[in-house]
Amino acid sequence: MRYGMVIDLDLCVGCRTCAVVCKEHNAQAPGTWWNRVFTPGSKYHQIPAEAEGGFSMYYLPVAPDPVL
Ligand code: SF4
Repeated sequence: MRYGMVIDLDLCVGCRTCAVVCKEHNAQAPGTWWNRVFTPGSKYHQIPAEAEGGFSMYYLPVAPDPVL
């Protein structure tokens, strides 16, 4: 059996708590982040990307592939 996790992107506020908890739980080495949270379209986290007609911002949490 394989487990999966579903994240409602409409509810994600980009706080990166999932990344911090994953790092702590798995005792990852300094500088290692298996979970990451991106702000698509922007070079910086939580800075909106310029979009046609204004600005756009949402967050994209990315978990590691458990098979790797
Ligand atoms: S960054 Fe992670 S912990 Fe924070 S709201 Fe989004 S999915 Fe939840």
